[in-house]
Amino acid sequence: MIISQLVKKIKPSATMSITSKVKQMISSGIDVIGFGAGEPDFDTPDYIKTAAIESLQNGFTKYTPTSGILELKEAICKKLLQENGVNYTPKQVIISCGAKHSIYNTILALCNPGDEVLVPSPYWVSYPEQITLANSTPVFIHTDDSKDFKISVEDLKRSITDKTKLLILNSPSNPTGSVYTKEELYEIADFAIQAGLYIISDEIYEKIVYDGTVHYSPASFGEKFAKNVITVNGLSKTFSMTGWRIGYMAGPEELVKATELIQDHSTSCPNSFSQKAAVVAIRGKDDITSKMVSEFDRRRRYIVERLNKIEGITCRLPKGAFYVFPNISGLYGRKIAGETAKNSSEFVSIVLDKAKVAVVPGICFGSDSHVRLSYATSFENIEKGMDRLENLLTNSIPYKN
Ligand SMILES: *Cc1c(COP(=O)(O)O)cnc(C)c1O
Repeated sequence: MIISQLVKKIKPSATMSITSKVKQMISSGIDVIGFGAGEPDFDTPDYIKTAAIESLQNGFTKYTPTSGILELKEAICKKLLQENGVNYTPKQVIISCGAKHSIYNTILALCNPGDEVLVPSPYWVSYPEQITLANSTPVFIHTDDSKDFKISVEDLKRSITDKTKLLILNSPSNPTGSVYTKEELYEIADFAIQAGLYIISDEIYEKIVYDGTVHYSPASFGEKFAKNVITVNGLSKTFSMTGWRIGYMAGPEELVKATELIQDHSTSCPNSFSQKAAVVAIRGKDDITSKMVSEFDRRRRYIVERLNKIEGITCRLPKGAFYVFPNISGLYGRKIAGETAKNSSEFVSIVLDKAKVAVVPGICFGSDSHVRLSYATSFENIEKGMDRLENLLTNSIPYKN
């Protein structure tokens, strides 16, 4: 079979291949500790499940309008006004099958072939591939530990060309956990808009922040910002609803109409009863997110402390999301139980093989000096995993099943 040129350009997701390798190892009886998860390890709260069950029982099982039900759009507008300080009407909101889908549709609706999209690196794995699928070109803006993985106006100046159409911001960030301050965000957004760019602000981790850190939505900075910033969010992370597939985009009405056309002929509406449940989740008074966040916080402090005790690893304390992104390049070239790694993929293989610990190579996020560990796993697993890593990397003792 001859597969399209377009699809041939797409890389498989390395996070997925690690996950399937771990599953294989577990099914053959090997006890692996996985730090690959990109989703909260908590169950979806019962009151949200009940809302879905009730809507099924009431027969709410048919197509809804392509862009989603009005009730949900209204709940989202209220949330965006109260929590994010952005004033949108329901016509400026479209519900999609997850925030990933919202981002993809937005890129498709905005970009022409050859357009450039600025992506701060390290980045979430799907941004470059979605840009490529839209026949456009991802242009990476390099950042590192010393910059707390944040871009600056200077970086933008260097990266913008006459083909640049769009900038993607993700604060709090997956994989780095960095969160921009209000001032930083203002400067960047202000400059980008003046340079004629649109901005996608992926705010999926907005509520997963620590140490009193505050998340800001660039669309809230004023009229000019609201016109040029596309706010994307969803329920997956905040309400532990990854499998329900509800995300949304809010922005100029013209753009919402354009993405609705794409949705009309690709996915149609998002899942009907998930939308009903989403209304209840968004309006809900039960603050499940802050319960998750306080547990994530405990794990975050612990995992960072343990990683920093390993010579050759340095790990920043992230301000948001549920990942740590330690720099492991200090271990490159060093003997680890008889083997040596010279990049993040080799390091990940050695650690999986010798310590039975699964982490994700930083190269999939654009940095070969790092690995990503998700702490959306039990405290007990984190303790075991860190013991194994310390034994292997500090004492050169592999883990025996
Ligand atoms: C998880 C995630 C998303 C999207 O999740 P959906 O389940 O599609 O809503 C978007 N951006 C980032 C950075 C993520 O980590």
